[in-house]
Amino acid sequence: MDKLSLPRPGCCKWAEGDSGSYTFPCDARIEPGVSYCDDHAAIVYIPPEERRRSRSSGSGMSLSYRRAA
Ligand SMILES: [Zn+2]
Repeated sequence: MDKLSLPRPGCCKWAEGDSGSYTFPCDARIEPGVSYCDDHAAIVYIPPEERRRSRSSGSGMSLSYRRAA
């Protein structure tokens, strides 16, 4: 049996793998009531300012949108 196939209590619940065959490679200690360590929480919960930055990069589309004279 793969001992990494279940999340461990008190450890980061970061999962990797396909549906049905997850592993939990991160054994970082977490606080009670918290699901992920700081590093993985930053990936799971993307801060609003991070989303705004990636959306604003899409505004560069307007350059290719202008028609050639
Ligand atoms: Zn983690």
